[in-house]
Amino acid sequence: MAKHPTQESWARRPNEEDMPITFLVNRAGPKGHEAQIILSHDVEGGYVHFARGRSVKCPKGPCEHCKANSERRWRGYCVCANARNRELTLVELTAAAMKPIDIYFRQHRTLRGALLTTKRIPEKPNGRLYATIVESAQAITSYPAVPSVRSLLRKLWGLPKDPDANGDVQRKIREADDDTNSQTA
Ligand SMILES: [Zn+2]
Repeated sequence: MAKHPTQESWARRPNEEDMPITFLVNRAGPKGHEAQIILSHDVEGGYVHFARGRSVKCPKGPCEHCKANSERRWRGYCVCANARNRELTLVELTAAAMKPIDIYFRQHRTLRGALLTTKRIPEKPNGRLYATIVESAQAITSYPAVPSVRSLLRKLWGLPKDPDANGDVQRKIREADDDTNSQTA
């Protein structure tokens, strides 16, 4: 049964939940990523399984994918602009690529404005990912501010919004839905 909306149906903007993810996930191909200007403050990530070509966040406890012996791997993400054409994507990183990025972050206290390139060795889809990160000569102020990576990942992985980021209205709607579900269960 469709949930009966509890909100006024006029809306100048759709709800956050109704808006699609605005950044495509940019997985490194055999040649790695093209040069990218990092726009996020830092990388956000988590442990994921890959199922049907998608990443699924592994919850705290052993999940169905863990039980099926699917590998559990760390993946990190940050919003970047392609240095050549400024296309914005959510660049995906592996644990192997993170060492120089972590060192850069400690030195500069932010990744925003850094020039990131990656390559795979060997040059194959499953080759180990290596990152190079340096200060860029680009004027970072000409690039847009970007939403938090965690909020983008919550959408990507179909997780509920961060409770801290929720308005009272959204919480009340969810609670009302939960009540309805428990009554009909
Ligand atoms: Zn799992």
